[in-house]
Amino acid sequence: MRQPGSPVIGLEIHVQVATESKLFCACSTDYIGAVPNTHVCPVCLGQPGSLPVINGRVVEYAVRTALALGARVGKSTRFHRKNYFYPDLPKAYQISQYDRPLAEGGALPIGEGENRKEIPITRLHLEEDAGKLVHSAADGRLGHSEYSLVDYNRGGVPLMEIVSEPEISTPAEAREYVATLRQLVRYLGVSDGDMEKGSLRVDANVSLTGADGKLGTKVEIKNMNSLRALERALDYEIARQADLIRKGESVRQETRHWDDGNGLTCGTRGKEEAHDYRYFPEPDLPALVLPDGFVEKQRDIMPEMPWILKERFVTDWGLSLQDAAVLTELPGLSRYVEDCVREGADPQRAANWIRTEVLRVLNEKRIGIEDFGVPAENLSPLLVKIDRGELSTTLAKTVFDRMVAEGLTALEALEKIGAPSGRLTGERLRNVIERVLEKESSAVEEIKSGKDPKGKKRGFLCGQIMREARGQADPEEVAKTLSRFLGC
Ligand code: ADP
Ligand code: ZN
Ligand code: MG
Repeated sequence: MRQPGSPVIGLEIHVQVATESKLFCACSTDYIGAVPNTHVCPVCLGQPGSLPVINGRVVEYAVRTALALGARVGKSTRFHRKNYFYPDLPKAYQISQYDRPLAEGGALPIGEGENRKEIPITRLHLEEDAGKLVHSAADGRLGHSEYSLVDYNRGGVPLMEIVSEPEISTPAEAREYVATLRQLVRYLGVSDGDMEKGSLRVDANVSLTGADGKLGTKVEIKNMNSLRALERALDYEIARQADLIRKGESVRQETRHWDDGNGLTCGTRGKEEAHDYRYFPEPDLPALVLPDGFVEKQRDIMPEMPWILKERFVTDWGLSLQDAAVLTELPGLSRYVEDCVREGADPQRAANWIRTEVLRVLNEKRIGIEDFGVPAENLSPLLVKIDRGELSTTLAKTVFDRMVAEGLTALEALEKIGAPSGRLTGERLRNVIERVLEKESSAVEEIKSGKDPKGKKRGFLCGQIMREARGQADPEEVAKTLSRFLGC
C-alpha cells in the first residue's frame, strides 16, 4: 500500500517519430523554420475526398520502440477518430488509436543498483500531430493577442504516445524516466528526442496518496520543455497539493500549465470540462495488420539497449557508474569510446580523455561527436602512447589540440610540434640523462653518498629526465639507465 500523502506520478509522452514524411501522406516532416503552410496537401489539410495511407516506416519505428520496452505488439490494431474542434486541427478530428493501441505493457528500467526500478508502461500508440497557432502578441500568449495565424506544416507529423502507469514516486524519478526514454529513442534511431524543439513532449500527472492509501485526485501539468522544468514543475505541484490538503481543502482535477519564468503552475479554466471525444473507428483506414515476420525483423535489427551497454562498461571495463552514464548518454559517444578501445586504447584512459578533452572541444564548438574532426582511430594511438610512457599527458594535450585544430593524426601532430616521434632510447636517451645529471649534480652527490634512503632524489631525477625527453621515454628504461649512470 502507498503511504498516505506520498506523491504518485504518471507520464504521458509524445515522441515525434523521425521519418521524412508524415503519418498519412507524403508531405515533409521538416517543419522547423519552413515557410508556413508549404508542407501541406489535401490529406493533412483534411480536404473532402482525400484518403490517408499509413507510413510503413513509422510503424517499423514504433514497433522497435515497443519491443525495446518489452511491450506486447498487437498483430492487428486500428485507428480511431478523436473528435474535437480547434483551429490547429483542420479536419476537426485527430487520427489516433483508442481501444487497440499498437502495443501494451512492458516497462522502462531506471536507476542503478539498489535504486533500480522498472516503471511499467500502459500503452504505446500512434497518432498525428496538430498544426500550430501563432499568436500575434509579443509574449505569444493567446489572451494578449489581436489575432492568431495558423501554420499546418506540423499537422499530420507522426507521434508515438507512450503512457506510463502511475508508479513514479518522485520528481527525480520522473526526470530519470524521461531521460532514459529519450536516450532509448535516440539509440533506436526513431526520434531525435529533442525536448526544446518539441520532438519529445511530456504531460505529467501527479497526485498525493489519500489517507486511505488510495490514489488521490490527479492534476495534469503541461508545457515543460526541459528535464529541469519537469522536475521543478512536479516539485511545485506536489507542494501546492500538500498545502491544500493541509488546509483541509481538496485538490481539483484539472490541467495546469507550467510557467517556467515564474516557477509555478497555473490553472487554465475555472472548471475542467469533461472531454467527450466521440471516438469512432476511422472509416478511411483498414485495420493495421502486421505481416508475418514484421515484428521479428524489427527485433533482429535492434541495437544493444543503452542501459545494458552502461552496465557492460562498468562490469567489463571497470568504469565508474558516472563515467559509464556520461559515455552512454548518446549513441554516437558510446560508439566512439568503443571504437577507441577496439583500436587498442585502455578503456579507463579512453573514458577519462573523452570525458575531459573530447567533450570540452565538443562543448566549445557546440557540435556533436558526429562532427568531431578526430576519428577514434586517430585518438587511440595517442592514448596508447601515453600508456606506454612515450608521451606525458601534458605533451599529449598539446598534440591533441593540434590534431583537433588541423585534422592531423597523432604522428603528424607530433612531427609538427617537433617532438621526436617515437621513444627516446639508447644513445639519445643517454645524452638526455647526462645533461640532466650535469645540471642536478648536487642531487647526484647526495644519492651517491647514501643520503637518499627513500629514493626521493632519485624520483626527482627521473621526473627531470622525463621532462627533458618531453615525455617521450619509457619510465622503466629511464630508471634502469639512470641506475647505471649512478652506479647504484
Ligand atoms: P485520463 O483518463 O485522465 O487520461 P488515464 O487513466 O488515462 O487518465 O491516465 C493518464 C495518465 O495519468 C497515465 O500516465 C496515468 O499513469 C496517470 N495517472 C492516472 N491516475 C493518476 C493519479 N491518481 N495520480 C497520478 N497519475 C495518474
Ligand atoms: Zn500532407
Ligand atoms: Mg487517458
